[in-house]
Amino acid sequence: MCGILGIIGHDNIAGTLLEGLTSIQHRGQDAAGIVTFNHRFHLHKADGLVEQAFKNLDLERFPGNCGLGHVRYATQGSTDALDAQPTVVNYPFGLAMVHNGNVVNFNQLKQTLCEDRHRLLDTSNDVALILYAFAAALETKNLKALTPEDIFESVQTVQDQVQGAYSALTIIANHGLLAFADPHGIRPLVLGRKYTDRGMVYAFASETDCFDHLGFELIRDLQPGEAVLIDIEGNIHSRICRAKKQAFCIFEYIYFAREDSVINGRLVATERVRIGRQLAEQVRKAGLQPDLVIDVPSSAYFFASGMAEALGVPYRRGLAKNNHVGRSFIESTQARREMMVRRKLNPLKDVVRGKKVAVVDDSIVRGTTSKHIVKLLRESGAAEIYFISAAPPITCPCIYGIDMSVKREIIAAHYDPKQIARYLDADAVIYQSLEDLQSLYEDLPCCYACFSGDYPTGASPELVKEIEEEKECSTRN
Ligand code: SF4
Repeated sequence: MCGILGIIGHDNIAGTLLEGLTSIQHRGQDAAGIVTFNHRFHLHKADGLVEQAFKNLDLERFPGNCGLGHVRYATQGSTDALDAQPTVVNYPFGLAMVHNGNVVNFNQLKQTLCEDRHRLLDTSNDVALILYAFAAALETKNLKALTPEDIFESVQTVQDQVQGAYSALTIIANHGLLAFADPHGIRPLVLGRKYTDRGMVYAFASETDCFDHLGFELIRDLQPGEAVLIDIEGNIHSRICRAKKQAFCIFEYIYFAREDSVINGRLVATERVRIGRQLAEQVRKAGLQPDLVIDVPSSAYFFASGMAEALGVPYRRGLAKNNHVGRSFIESTQARREMMVRRKLNPLKDVVRGKKVAVVDDSIVRGTTSKHIVKLLRESGAAEIYFISAAPPITCPCIYGIDMSVKREIIAAHYDPKQIARYLDADAVIYQSLEDLQSLYEDLPCCYACFSGDYPTGASPELVKEIEEEKECSTRN
């Protein structure tokens, strides 16, 4: 999972790119990078947060009115800056790319590209494969008179070859800024604009909170399989290239997207309140009567407040959060994750003491965070603790770029809610039901594969296993 941003305008845009990246920083903290184009590419990428990666860097070194930015959460390849994005190639005449998602046929595609094009692709990073596939398709066109149609046909070739989730942005040197989505539209991508004295500036981003921050107006979401080209004259060309049944990642609403973003015309915060209200049904069914509802800060607040409202039980803030510690989910090793949880949360003892507490989190993946939270609440004197997950039980790995790609580590893949409650030392564990969640999205086809194992790209069990083994191997290394 990553955050991407692309801007094409009239003045130098490096400062705007960096500013915009800070508002999608929650999508990736491993590395950050930008590239601008002005006769040639100007690239910088480094490990860490945007502020760290660009500390003491002179933005004069990044001239150009067209550029890309990326914040990386490593799910493929190493966590080194070498594998960070953007990625640039100088053929056929200069391309730079960033993407968000995960290529699932990585090994097969790498081999095909090497064999077909007789080029050695020494990369473990999936954006390089998408970029080379696109470059190879463009090479077959008349490069002296490249048209938007040629570009869209090349995107179509990429979509035929590349399986998985990808929202990609590409600078095509001296031609413009291109955005395209995978045929299922698994990852979010929005188009926006801003009027300036010098004319219109266009941007593509993973989330609209970035537009709010930069003063851009949202035009629309890209559709599954769609490509949009903003040419150097500022004209917009678009085409649905290869579209299949939409399968938008439901986890964007549950966890990943920021609450103030609007995706598919829906404010994420409102979606979380709706999911929380629905969750109350499962609490009632289990016959539980909590005295108060608290949330695991920060992503569970809206679920908890919606659930409390539906149950007619007070919502209170029961856990204080140290905001200067990163998100534990996004950390790459178990030991680091545990350490982060200990540093991050502290119970408000007077609030929970003697109470039957329903504590709501967005999901339960490994159970590590949940177990520690239950321990903290017990030590603070809570009478009973019901651990409530806004997501249904996660039973299958995500192969599309969210870091739950190893079944061995996913607790609900091996244990039922009663066993999980015993492991967490909670009085009950309640999950959202998959059917209830799906009933909220009858008008928006979503991916639920991590709950159901029904992968929208049709990944075989063998392929899922292969991806899991690679993930285990890269974690060990
Ligand atoms: Fe999102 Fe789950 Fe589908 Fe992955 S498997 S894309 S996390 S819904």
